[in-house]
Amino acid sequence: MARISDFDIDAKGRPSSAAEIVTASGVKIYQLPIETFPGHVNNLSLVCAPGYTLLVDVGTATANDQIDARFAEIRQRFGVDLGPEDVDAVLISHAHIDHFGNAHRFADAGAPLLIHELDARVLMEFEERLVLASRDLGIFLYRAGVRDDHVRAIVSRYQSGKDWFAPIEPAGRLRNGDVLGPGFPLLHVPGHCPGLVCLAVDDVVLTTDHLLSRITPTQAPQSVTPFMGLENYLRSLDKLRRFGDFDLGLGAHEAPILDVRARIDETIEHHMRRLRQALDLCDSPRTIAEISRDLFGPQHGYSVQLALGEAGAHVEFLHELGFLRIDNLDEVAADLQAPGRYLRSGRPLPDRRPD
Ligand SMILES: [Zn+2]
Ligand SMILES: [Zn+2]
Repeated sequence: MARISDFDIDAKGRPSSAAEIVTASGVKIYQLPIETFPGHVNNLSLVCAPGYTLLVDVGTATANDQIDARFAEIRQRFGVDLGPEDVDAVLISHAHIDHFGNAHRFADAGAPLLIHELDARVLMEFEERLVLASRDLGIFLYRAGVRDDHVRAIVSRYQSGKDWFAPIEPAGRLRNGDVLGPGFPLLHVPGHCPGLVCLAVDDVVLTTDHLLSRITPTQAPQSVTPFMGLENYLRSLDKLRRFGDFDLGLGAHEAPILDVRARIDETIEHHMRRLRQALDLCDSPRTIAEISRDLFGPQHGYSVQLALGEAGAHVEFLHELGFLRIDNLDEVAADLQAPGRYLRSGRPLPDRRPD
């Protein structure tokens, strides 16, 4: 049985102190919560096996003082005689900036950076990724029925992150089934991000951003980024369920997951509910932008893009599987920029996820 130490938690369910987890065979894992962006907390995980220390995720460079403070905290509370520069390897769970933005600090100190092969290109060609992703985001937003001035504002906000990272070549490109250290297998779980990986450490699974204890990881259509999308995500939840019978899950945000399989079921049910809501809205023809507004209400800042991505992923799933059809086909045929209006096809959505 895995054991977990006491840790503090704030009003939003986020850990606000480090925690020590001891797995069934005695491997120690330290959860190090740090604020990577204002109000946004990531958990870095330090896995300490005999002769092998692995850091999972590195946060952002702005959080370096907090990282140092968390290492000081685990030295004082748990007697961990290690500094941030002493790790043997760094695993980047996926190529989202709050998880990899600080990679240079650890690479400069000599730690090999490991990342799934589908996300390695983001680190190596950060600017290219941003330019191409901006273009594909823009195409999606027009297709979703977002007004031209809003499309420009959303894309330009996205592009403002172009100076956040200087390209770096990872030392290792990972694949599903690769084993790290003394025997920690990786599971590739595309969906929330193309190259997202989970890591099994005995009876504990690092679920990273694939499964979280309170919120559900953000979704975006696979028409914008291959290997994302709700269908891939739900398949990856099944994959995690089959990966093993774990005692504890550690997400890259929020508190530990005490019942991994129950949380998988809750997360699937959340998306089934949202699929039913989206389908009900399409009793009359609607664009993705209209569905987003009906589901989430008016949004501001970066949340606009997140809400449209979430709505787009659910509509894409319903359309691909034949639960929705395009009602204004003549309009779309005549004007490539015209947004599709989605209408319920009449095919009933089953209570359980369709296989
Ligand atoms: Zn993420
Ligand atoms: Zn994240």
